[in-house]
Amino acid sequence: MDAQRFKVSANVGSAGRLTIDLSALRANYLRLCATVAPARAAAVVKANAYGLDVARVAPVLDAAGCRDFFVAQYGEALELKPHVSAEARIYVLNGLLPGFEGDCATRGIVPVLNSLEQVENWNELAKARGQKLPALLQFDTGMSRLGLSMEEAVLLAHQPSLLDGVDVLYIMSHLASADEAESPQNAAQAAAMREFAELFPDHQLCFANSGGIFLGSDLHGALVRPGIALYGGRPTDVIDTPMQPVVSLDVPVVQTRTVPAGTLVGYSGAYVAKAERRLATLSVGYADGLPRSLSDRGAVSCDGVRLPIVGRVSMDSLIVDISDLPAGRLKLGDHVEVIGPHQSLEDLAADAGTISYEILTGLGRRFQRRYR
Ligand SMILES: *Cc1c(COP(=O)(O)O)cnc(C)c1O
Repeated sequence: MDAQRFKVSANVGSAGRLTIDLSALRANYLRLCATVAPARAAAVVKANAYGLDVARVAPVLDAAGCRDFFVAQYGEALELKPHVSAEARIYVLNGLLPGFEGDCATRGIVPVLNSLEQVENWNELAKARGQKLPALLQFDTGMSRLGLSMEEAVLLAHQPSLLDGVDVLYIMSHLASADEAESPQNAAQAAAMREFAELFPDHQLCFANSGGIFLGSDLHGALVRPGIALYGGRPTDVIDTPMQPVVSLDVPVVQTRTVPAGTLVGYSGAYVAKAERRLATLSVGYADGLPRSLSDRGAVSCDGVRLPIVGRVSMDSLIVDISDLPAGRLKLGDHVEVIGPHQSLEDLAADAGTISYEILTGLGRRFQRRYR
């Protein structure tokens, strides 16, 4: 009976509620556009739009005027394509593995070429097809992750036939320390980028991620590539007004109890109550993306009162100390805040010893997701 009335889903009952504010996402995108104008803002929607569901996120950005979308992997480009305008460009940051060039060209997806081998494969295909094929050229300005070295760039610049089938839309690179405004690596990478740009004077630059956008216009180039700032993360340590929060998470209480001094709490008895405590067990754990590193660290919040996590985070639950709340305030089925007005995504990430990116992309599949 129930199976007929309700779509069968894990995301009912004791699942947490993940709310994704699409109007905040839109506002963040428009703010970034205004910050970088006359440069344009792309959107980085890799990893399922940082875990927030690319099928919900991409159409909102597209409707806000975004026409450039970056993913990491080719499969993500295919997944994204039906959710954006026909004229939107989709770029694949990690480039193509051999064998995928033909399919990519046919579908009009734009690879980032990170090595001479990728340049050669793309150029050969273009010549075989008798058409120019679009691409971005990435240079390694100091991160040693992806992109052509200076020697390789010099080679390309001096042998134009290596690129004669390629329509280079932008030359790009990526900042390793843009979230730390004072890091000398930012200026060093900017200087390296200028050297690469001198080799390719006719091409526009695509350089800044979220952090780079707030480091000044000399890093903007023609197209910026924000990710985390769209989703409400803090792009850099110097920005005074935060981005609008996009994600909030509330989870239900599934049991409360009062324990006497000396009680062992959770796996391995890693926490021992020093005095009588009131505890609540919450229906959320590391399988939902709350890292196990939050064991005995970090907290949730109720009525603005901080409720510390005690003992180990379990797969499907964790235990918080609710002694600072009035007795009876929390009962079975009440929700507490994990991410929200009293505890930001960044706060939670800091307590877990990680970054907001990892929290977002790890958010599990069991939550009830609500898009506003
Ligand atoms: C992930 C990524 C971005 C987006 O970075 P944010 O810090 O989330 O803004 C931009 N460019 C490249 C190459 C990336 O890998």
